[in-house]
Amino acid sequence: MLEKDIEKVLISREEISQRCAELGAVLTEEYQGKNPLVIGVLTGAVPFMADIIREMDCQLEMDFMDVSSYGNALVSSGEVKIIKDLDTNVEGRDILVVEDIIDSGRTLAYLVDLFKYRKANSVKIVTLLDKQEGRVVDIKADYVGFDVPNEFVVGYGLDFMGHYRNLPYVGVLKPSIYKPIN
Ligand code: 5GP
Ligand code: MG
Ligand code: MG
Repeated sequence: MLEKDIEKVLISREEISQRCAELGAVLTEEYQGKNPLVIGVLTGAVPFMADIIREMDCQLEMDFMDVSSYGNALVSSGEVKIIKDLDTNVEGRDILVVEDIIDSGRTLAYLVDLFKYRKANSVKIVTLLDKQEGRVVDIKADYVGFDVPNEFVVGYGLDFMGHYRNLPYVGVLKPSIYKPIN
């Protein structure tokens, strides 16, 4: 059903699961004895968050934040707005931000500044995908799943107009889906 809209698969389900296990092992060491607050950026990070925390063999807490920068557009508006804030006080906490993809870097730059302003003890970033060519703001993830080219990708959390987040892999849509002929 969904697969008919996909032009090509960039990262398979197996590759994602393998990489989650690798990253999880590194994060397990990093956060041993630290009780990090793992913050998922809604909504795209949900599948990655669910997988990565189950590969982390240490005490941790979870929270979520929703910020908007994209709306339904294919390119970033450059604006970041808090839609849902954390329920947890981050002061003195070791924060691990979980993102689906870093493109311009604006969302994460904003969040890292915010958590530092709120006196977090440390702030690190794990992102499933890194689109380095899209970078406008100077920000680097501490842990990256995969580098991706400057293409609009969907699946494993990433949406087009709210859809395709539930694809178990990362792929590129057929042009006919996002460029309807009329
Ligand atoms: P940034 O602030 O780094 O430009 O953008 C981050 C957000 O933009 C991501 O969390 C994601 O929601 C969205 N985004 C960036 N590139 C893509 C892409 O290729 N596909 C999809 N579906 N969303 C993207
Ligand atoms: Mg995101
Ligand atoms: Mg989106």
